[in-house]
Amino acid sequence: MKAIAVHPGRPNSIHLREIPEPKVADVPDGRGVLVKVLRVGVDGTDKEINAAEYGAAPPGDDYLVTGHESFGQVVEVGPNVPSTIAPGAYVVASVRRPGSSIYGKIGLQDFTTDDVYYERGINLLHGYLTEYYVEDAEYVFPLPATLREVGVLLEPTTVAEKGINHAFEIQRRLKVWQPRRACVLGSGTVGLLTALVARLRGLELTVYSLPQKPYRNADLVEQLGGTYVSSQDATLAEASAEHGPFDLIMDATGFSPIVWEAAEVLGKNGVLVLASITGGDRKAEINSDRINQGFVLGNKVMVGTVNAAPADFRSGVDDLIKAEALYPGWLKQLLTTPIQGLENYEQMIRELIENRDAIKVYVEVAGNGAG
Ligand code: BGC
Ligand code: ZN
Repeated sequence: MKAIAVHPGRPNSIHLREIPEPKVADVPDGRGVLVKVLRVGVDGTDKEINAAEYGAAPPGDDYLVTGHESFGQVVEVGPNVPSTIAPGAYVVASVRRPGSSIYGKIGLQDFTTDDVYYERGINLLHGYLTEYYVEDAEYVFPLPATLREVGVLLEPTTVAEKGINHAFEIQRRLKVWQPRRACVLGSGTVGLLTALVARLRGLELTVYSLPQKPYRNADLVEQLGGTYVSSQDATLAEASAEHGPFDLIMDATGFSPIVWEAAEVLGKNGVLVLASITGGDRKAEINSDRINQGFVLGNKVMVGTVNAAPADFRSGVDDLIKAEALYPGWLKQLLTTPIQGLENYEQMIRELIENRDAIKVYVEVAGNGAG
């Protein structure tokens, strides 16, 4: 079968190749789920993998099948797979697999302390940009058929879910935390999905991002009842003076200096969640005393988040269902840039690198049954 792969470490090595078809029995103990891939989304991580800045091939292979944002339909299951994952079910598989740390042993490999981590389509494990994959039922999450149009957004949604779920988890320390205002930094896919999740948690929403209106992503924020502020029109301190103080700020910009401005404006007892992967070595001058004093006197928290746990996949499914009910058609607007078929991998990578207006570039690997 066909697959889109790279040679990790070799820039621009993206190519189409033939790989063997997987079988249900490849997973031990009758727990295998064979999935026909319908759609796969791509993001900045895929861009970095193709640029040879990130990613590693599985041991013994000189290529890595990419793609970690999957959506597919179950074809066949082993005898010990729960009946919630029956043939015909729509499913999304998670990305990270356990290594040797204790967190993997309890199913929370998103918290691994290992230096080496295993992520399908990213690091040491092949991904989903192919026709079929097989996976242990433990890592496969079912979605209702009503989500077949937008289910490919689940994996990036789980990144937002983990950030917000953990903000609430951390703030249980306050016994009565009642956040009112959220600010999301960045209006790319993860920024928009975080904005959605914040609204679904009942928070007032401000999204702060670079482009000026008119801007489609600003319209999407406003469709959620949020306020969009361009960083070309106001500093974050000004946005906070007008729309804050923010109880919850989550960064999804990819621009690390903004984090220190956010730390400075975060409200008392607030949480600042960092979710941008910034591989460079940018430096910034910060108001060190002021930030420190604000954190101390304001009992504030700054926390990093990566990947997602099973609970975040489950709350992600719930939130996608809720989103379709409360903001019908909103999620679909994120699916701006379909690529027809694995053969068009060159167009896929071009759109990913060059198309500044794209929100989500994704490959239609096979029809999604949505008509
Ligand atoms: C993926 C995460 C992954 C992270 C780090 C992101 O693009 O969505 O699942 O943990 O990259 O590799
Ligand atoms: Zn990703």
